[in-house]
Amino acid sequence: MQLSMHGLVSITMPKHYFVRLANASQYPYQLIHSSRAKHLSLKLTSSGALSVILPQGIQTLLAHSFVQEQSAWIEKHIRQSVTKPSITARPDVLDLKMLNEKWSIEYKEGVQGSVEYSELPNHCLSITGEIQSDKLVNKIIGLFLKNKASALFSQIISELATQHGFQYSGITIRGQKGRWGSCSSRKKLNINYKLLLMPEAVVRYVFIHELCHTREMNHSAKFWQLVENYVPEYRQYREYLKEHGEIIRYF
Ligand SMILES: [Zn+2]
Repeated sequence: MQLSMHGLVSITMPKHYFVRLANASQYPYQLIHSSRAKHLSLKLTSSGALSVILPQGIQTLLAHSFVQEQSAWIEKHIRQSVTKPSITARPDVLDLKMLNEKWSIEYKEGVQGSVEYSELPNHCLSITGEIQSDKLVNKIIGLFLKNKASALFSQIISELATQHGFQYSGITIRGQKGRWGSCSSRKKLNINYKLLLMPEAVVRYVFIHELCHTREMNHSAKFWQLVENYVPEYRQYREYLKEHGEIIRYF
């Protein structure tokens, strides 16, 4: 199968779907509608972003079963050609899956004792200062993520709460190293800004999970039933977080 570029026209709100691989893991992909493509085809970028190119007149249902049929091919190529996202203290790229934005990072030596960041055009993050310090670099990337996430996460949670009738007393966006979110007995939500590095569907599941805790302060069967009411496919998102969750220890 060819990994080719057609005249790609992305849909406005990128939505992630999941293909089930032979090892029972789930892998996210997107649908890309193309007026120039003649056939259904798959595209896998070197960073591991998977898309199915959908020509005009082909039903999306067909595209989804096509992806599933190609699961062996996908699995093989993910293993072979996709370098695992390098989670290091000093990454070259930040893949903000939720926003469908890939940020390159450039480091510049500067004043010792501190670092600062600035956003350059074309999703380039410039970090200047004592860049030899993993600790400072990690901290500044965390701040960048927090600034990107704060207003956005608060707005989506507010919308979800209104839509489903949840009540919470406040939201704090922070960078916990061990959890994606939490909800206090006073119905205050803590949400991890590193969710920006996860696909949107997964992020929305986490938000619903924490909102459900405003009604059920535990992980009982009743709680999971509540979650399932709003996110029927929540199990695959939990699985995804388990498999790709190691990034939570950084930034
Ligand atoms: Zn929970």
